Formats: sequence, C-alpha cells, structure tokens
Amino acid sequence: MKKSKKIVVLGCNFAGLTVSRFLHQEIGDAAEITIIDRKNYINFIPNIPIEVFNNHNPADSLEFQFQKFLKRDGSEFIQGEVEHIDADNKKVLFTPNERTGAAQETISYDYLVVALGCKLAYDKIEGFAEFGHTFSDTFYGNEVRKYLHNEYKGGHIAIGSDRFIQGQSPKLPKIPVALAACEGPPIELAFSLVDWLKKHKKGNAKNITLFTPGEVIAEDAGETILKQLLPMLAEYGYRKDTVGIKRIYKDGIDFKDGSSLEAEMKIVFPNWEAHDFMKDLPFVDDQGFVVTDFFMRNPDFPEIFAVGDAASVTVPKSASLGHMECEIVAKVLANEILERTEKVDPLHPAVLCFGDMGNHKGFYMHTDEWWGGETCILKMGYTPYILKMGFKTMYQTLGGKVPSWGMPLSEFVGDHTII
Ligand SMILES: Cc1cc2nc3c(=O)[nH]c(=O)nc-3n(C[C@H](O)[C@H](O)[C@H](O)COP(=O)(O)OP(=O)(O)OC[C@H]3O[C@@H](n4cnc5c(N)ncnc54)[C@H](O)[C@@H]3O)c2cc1C
Repeated sequence: MKKSKKIVVLGCNFAGLTVSRFLHQEIGDAAEITIIDRKNYINFIPNIPIEVFNNHNPADSLEFQFQKFLKRDGSEFIQGEVEHIDADNKKVLFTPNERTGAAQETISYDYLVVALGCKLAYDKIEGFAEFGHTFSDTFYGNEVRKYLHNEYKGGHIAIGSDRFIQGQSPKLPKIPVALAACEGPPIELAFSLVDWLKKHKKGNAKNITLFTPGEVIAEDAGETILKQLLPMLAEYGYRKDTVGIKRIYKDGIDFKDGSSLEAEMKIVFPNWEAHDFMKDLPFVDDQGFVVTDFFMRNPDFPEIFAVGDAASVTVPKSASLGHMECEIVAKVLANEILERTEKVDPLHPAVLCFGDMGNHKGFYMHTDEWWGGETCILKMGYTPYILKMGFKTMYQTLGGKVPSWGMPLSEFVGDHTII
C-alpha cells in the first residue's frame, strides 16, 4: 500500500516512543512515521531511585535501546537535534548529531507530534551543580548513589521542588494551576529514603524535611488523599509556601520566602521549562508548552499534536498522563488518515502512579479530585511495588507499546486488590 501521509514525531523517550508505536499499530502502512531524538536510547526515569538505593548505577539497567522496535514497525529513526519548527510551511529543521559539524537538514510533515519533554532548569538554581542532588536522570542518580553510599554522614536531608511556572493561554482547556511540576517523586523519595536510612543505620524520618513552593505538598493528589497522606508524613520535617528556591549552599537552602533550611543533602526538583527554541513558536503558551485541546491537537495548527511533558495540559508532568495522551493521538490520527469513525474519548486528567516505599512495598494513587472528579484511591502494600517493577519490564520488553489492557489492568489491580 502506498504510504499516504507523513507523520513526524519529535522526541523518543516515554511519550515519543509510545506514540510512535501506537501510531503504527493504529495506522499500519498508511503512514510514513519518522521519529527524531538527540539520543538513541530511553531513560527509564521513574525507577532511578530504586536502583540508587540498591547501590546500582541506574545507567546499567535503565537506559535501553529502542531502534529495533521502530525498525520492526517500519518506522524511521533519525538521531539529531531538533532546532526549529516552521509551522506555516510544515517543516522541521534539525541537525544530525552523530558527529559534530553536520549541516542543518529539513524534513516536511503532514502531521507533527511534539514529544520533546521539557528542560529541567537546574541551571537556574544557584549552587545546584556544587551542592545539589537529584534523581531525574542516570547521571544525577549515580551522583546521589556515590554520595549516599560513600560520603553521607547521617546529616539532615532536604527534599522538595522549586516553583513551576505553568503556561497559560486563552486557547487552553481549563485545568487547575500547579505550583510544582510533579511532587510524586519527592513523596516517593521521602518514603523510600527512610527505609534506606534505617537499613544502613543512618537515621529515620526525622533526618528528612520535605518542602514545597505551594500551600500543601502534592496538591494534585486532592484533598481526600491528602487527609490520609499528610498524617503519614508527621514524623518528617515539613516546609510549605517556600515560593521557590533562591540558592543552594554547602550547609543548606535559602528559599524565596526569606526562610532557610540547614541540610547536608539537598535533593531538589527544578522548574520544568519549555525548551528555548520552542518559546517563540506560534502554537505554544506563554511559557513555550504546546497548546492543545483534550484530543492533544493544537487549535490554530490542527496538524500539530503534542504528548507528554511538552504539552501544556500535561499537569502534573507525569508519564502516566503522557501515556493516555499517546493513545488518544494515535486514534485521532487513525480516524483522520484511514477515514474511520471510531469514537475517541478526550483526555480525562488524573494522577495514576505507583511509588516505591522501600522494603519491596509501594503506594498506589489514582485520583481525579483535583480536576473536579470523584476518584480518590490511595493504597499501600507489596502489590504497588510489584506493579511498578512489572510496568518497567513490560515497557522494556514491548518497546514502549504497553498493550491497551496494560494500563487498565494495573488500574484494576491497584483499585481493587492490594496486598
Ligand atoms: C525522579 C522522577 C520520578 C518520576 N516518576 C514518575 C512515575 O512514577 N510515574 C510517572 O507517571 N511519571 C514519573 N515521572 C515523570 C516522568 O519521568 C515524565 O513525565 C516523563 O519522562 C515525560 O516523558 P516525555 O517523553 O514527555 O519527556 P522526556 O522523558 O523528557 O523525553 C523527551 C525526549 O525528547 C528528546 N529531546 C528533547 N529536546 C530535543 C531536541 N531539541 N532535539 C532532539 N531531541 C530532543 C530527549 O532526548 C528525550 O528523549 C518522574 C520524574 C522524575 C524526575
């Protein structure tokens, strides 16, 4: 069959790989799918803390190659740096980056899916490089691993987020505004680090202070879940309304509200910013995130879609929201290209997450209360940990194409059966 439409997917981590695989599954040979990313492997970010606490370099098991899966689908992968999107002329400008000195190239598209994630703005936090720690990629994860296992003196540990500046645009659907990009990781770390401290006889919850720029940590968990969660954090130190991080120094953190916190380790999550080259494009919000409706389509350039952290409506910035968006985009594009009329439901934003708590236990959270819904489930036990590890294995084995029953099955097991 002649491939009738050209789909270009920008980015190939969680959202990019998943949407590329679903697009092929739905559309088959009727579209030519090309994916561009600056690196040719996936960073499986959510499991970095587990590897660090087990004293494994996360790069050893959490970076995996995806090209064989794309090849099997008949999709093309280009390793290169995306530098500009010319939306009026439906072209992307990129530079192949296997070797330096390559000349800038152009690729045209009928449909574009932006899955470029965000820039994690550690470079805007004074003192981070010298005195900060974090878990958001394998390099930083390995730095924490070396510090914890070789240098940590049993001192205080601060864990929290800088202020997130959520993009705004009159063309966006209404969603609540978050002051932190994603506070699942700080909460997860608080639980699992206590287990590590106890196992290594270095302390307990009293060693840790959680901080948030907002009125309450993990506000997107919704009030009902927070009523269960916050009492569980009673033994930890807790700072709210910090407004943001002013600077990190050897012995602590200064916050933008004028207060300070002494700490040996400063584990921080920064502002999730849009990439610099995105900020002046004609289809983004005032911060550079791609404006879409709940079918992940831009209202002014209907051939442009966005999934994952790069999309303005993805708040909090979580892989599980991105996953739901990928399924939607694949179905919407399949309907259009194949002239199908299958019903597609719009995005129903929700937090769906599995967090590690150490000692082979985890927590499961499923809630849409922050968006006005009525689902609010928080459970703890061995099952959420098994599901978290199982999701990683399924993702790696199937090359990002977690089958349509994978997520609902996890949701079903999480909602109804926790051991
Ligand atoms: C410690 C931690 C734990 C987390 N745990 C969870 C969890 O348990 N559950 C959950 O749902 N979410 C979790 N998240 C959030 C999750 O990791 C992100 O939401 C997810 O990675 C977003 O996927 P993405 O594909 O949209 O963006 P990214 O993962 O950021 O991928 C973007 C891709 O685009 C490429 N790219 C960017 N710019 C360019 C360019 N100019 N040219 C070429 N390529 C480019 C990058 O190389 C990358 O491959 C966690 C985050 C952190 C930091």
